[in-house]
Amino acid sequence: MKKDFLHTKIKTLEIIASQKNLLKKIREALSLIKKTDIKEYDRLFSRLNTIFITNKNGYANEFFMPEKIWFANKSVILKNDINWLASLIVHESFHATQFKNGKYTIPLNKLEKPALKLQAEFLEKLEGKKSKKDIDRVSKEKYWNKMSKDKNSFAYFRNLLNLYENRKLDLKSKK
Ligand SMILES: [Zn+2]
Repeated sequence: MKKDFLHTKIKTLEIIASQKNLLKKIREALSLIKKTDIKEYDRLFSRLNTIFITNKNGYANEFFMPEKIWFANKSVILKNDINWLASLIVHESFHATQFKNGKYTIPLNKLEKPALKLQAEFLEKLEGKKSKKDIDRVSKEKYWNKMSKDKNSFAYFRNLLNLYENRKLDLKSKK
């Protein structure tokens, strides 16, 4: 199976997506992180190797360790505003810090809380107090439970990861 994707690189971080506008929005989110918190921005490059946006609709997304790849279906990028997207990238890359010697350092169901906290702090830097409402809503919805029902996407991510690692994807460079 061969699939076409576009890719671009920012320093060591590879960004792969099925459409130009997806790459552009990720670039914008990264610039926003840089502008908002340069330390958090610098940390991204050790925490995250690849951002991979699929051509599938839906909100499923998953961070893979030790590969340090974040997969997301395209609605995650298209339907969220840029502030939220930037904060989500900060959140996802933080998961890399919770992983040592091939294992997560805390139980899986405890990984989210500290990542959400960091995300909330980042959003607050961007938006002030009004950001708190968004985070509270997301915590209440427990979106990660909802996502875990989207088994198709998780199998799809694994399939893409496999193709990517075996260099079976047709990647076209995009500036
Ligand atoms: Zn998370």
